[in-house]
Amino acid sequence: MPLARLLGAAALICAVFALAGCGAEPAPAEQRVVILGFDGMDPVLAQRWMDEGKLPNFSRLAESGHFQPLGTSNPPQSPVAWSDFATGEHAGSHGIFDFLRRDPETYGPQFSISENIPPESHLDLFGLSIPLGEGQVLNRRQGVAFWTEAEQQGKRASVLRVPVTYPPDEIHRMLSGMGVPDLLGTQGTYTFYTTTRLEKSGSSTRVVRVRPDRDGTIESVLEGPPDPLRTEPEPMRVPLVISPLETGARVSLGDVETELQPGQWSDWVRVTFDVTGPVNVTGTVRMLLVQDYPRPRLYVSPIQIDPMSPAVPISSPPGYAAELAERIGLYHTIGMPEETWSLNEEHISDAAWLEMLKTILAEREAMWYDTLDRNDSEVVVGVFVQTDRVSHMFYRGLDPEHPRFDDTLPEHRDAIEWIYTEADRILGETMERLGPEDELLVISDHGFAPFRKAVHLNRWLVDNDYLVLDEGREESDVVFSAVDWSRSRAYALGLNGLFINRAGREGQGIVAVGEVETLKHEIMSALEAWNDAETGDPVVRTVFDGLDIYPGGEDNAETPDLVIGYHSGYRASWQTTLGAVPAALIEPNAQKWSGDHCIDPHLVPGVLFTSFKPDREVLSIKDIWTLAEGRVH
Ligand SMILES: [Zn+2]
Repeated sequence: MPLARLLGAAALICAVFALAGCGAEPAPAEQRVVILGFDGMDPVLAQRWMDEGKLPNFSRLAESGHFQPLGTSNPPQSPVAWSDFATGEHAGSHGIFDFLRRDPETYGPQFSISENIPPESHLDLFGLSIPLGEGQVLNRRQGVAFWTEAEQQGKRASVLRVPVTYPPDEIHRMLSGMGVPDLLGTQGTYTFYTTTRLEKSGSSTRVVRVRPDRDGTIESVLEGPPDPLRTEPEPMRVPLVISPLETGARVSLGDVETELQPGQWSDWVRVTFDVTGPVNVTGTVRMLLVQDYPRPRLYVSPIQIDPMSPAVPISSPPGYAAELAERIGLYHTIGMPEETWSLNEEHISDAAWLEMLKTILAEREAMWYDTLDRNDSEVVVGVFVQTDRVSHMFYRGLDPEHPRFDDTLPEHRDAIEWIYTEADRILGETMERLGPEDELLVISDHGFAPFRKAVHLNRWLVDNDYLVLDEGREESDVVFSAVDWSRSRAYALGLNGLFINRAGREGQGIVAVGEVETLKHEIMSALEAWNDAETGDPVVRTVFDGLDIYPGGEDNAETPDLVIGYHSGYRASWQTTLGAVPAALIEPNAQKWSGDHCIDPHLVPGVLFTSFKPDREVLSIKDIWTLAEGRVH
């Protein structure tokens, strides 16, 4: 695993940087532009709860300053929209088109935000593999972020947890957000120890079947990253022992013992993986006893990069992550720590998930206020993504038409309203910390819509003869495993992208350049005319031509040929995003992930609040770049 190869060397570098730093107190900022982001805040919901008097700070800001819906990116996905925000450019320029990109050669999906490049060569010796030269992690976002531009003009910028900021930009202060991996190099793989046989492992889930001995003791291990210095990739392991208490369980992980009651989260537990050689790698986890004896189930969070001793740099300067942990305590470091997948898989309950979210929110508040109180940056940007995560997981509580509305407990149905009132409280705390010269922008990257039905777009392509399965096959697994490329003209991958199987671009492309335009228009018309057989409702509102929305993208193999703008209520199925073709065309969404925004961008604008009257028209999140730049004096 490439990340693991980086761990050893990077840990040493970070330790050195952590010791350096610490100079004279910087001069205070005379005037600040503060940008506070609430991912996924929806203008209609915000207006509703402002009208009901539930968001007094937002109402006050709207009254004394300005409030408007804010156009989002196309497609309206967080990594795309926050990259539009950072660079002032569309995806055709900054290169982040979707959460997932594809390798045109193999058609395989890849994470689009960052990329690990392994060291070029290794010295294999005595069963050890010693990396020669340093590996690299690349942020795939191109273009210049406005905080970098501000620094070039002599200002200082503090940027906290903005999506697509990993690895960190070298600025006055940055803590990376979405994109930071766990210690396994993934975007969040949790481990679920269970004594029952129901659960399956998935891409974000490691299910470990365990068996108690006669006195109830369970002996297992927590697997970490592979030892970076071994030629055979062998995961490093830490022993894990679960034993019964009168109620609850005692869990020993490495040399840390914790007593847990059912439904209770542990504090942070630091785990040390012994790498061959002088440097160890440490990570941090939190544990939840999901179910008590006699059939215990234990959830262990993704193994986070330890902020006190980060295995790869997650901040700028590199020592800032540790310095911050000393000031506010340990915190989640992974890019997307809100464990949406474990709730969607129903490995943890609504109540436990909300409890975890509150912990993360408190950490984010502590680091945000710490930065505001330091008052040493002219540009301050922070994004709270918890508004988005709660909206994804609890839209079912707002939407009586959702298949999961009925089994959502009444006390959890107002979870989205709750997180908006938390956002209002954070806004109030922020406004109290601003000086009279400071200027405030509150933005979101997109709004929200219900996600009631999952659309298997690759099934539609098969049914309409654009995608052809191998002889005798009715379905295909992920990564187009049963697709006959020699007869396929188009395929869908990611949340909104549709690609033509072009000769000379795709590994087994067959569509000649001269046929591309006609084929695109044929598919666009057919998709826009497609109605849900069950209800007669249109499924797709707009199909965008990639070359219209990303002008100049002709020569970029990454540019999607078509971008699908679903109607409200519909979204690409999870299977579609990874290139699978199941039997069904459209299915009710029976999962807790019940709200979404990866649809037609005109249906899901975000919000813009400002403490001043904008001196220019602000159409979309892309325009915040110039609006903010114009306010920095
Ligand atoms: Zn989202």
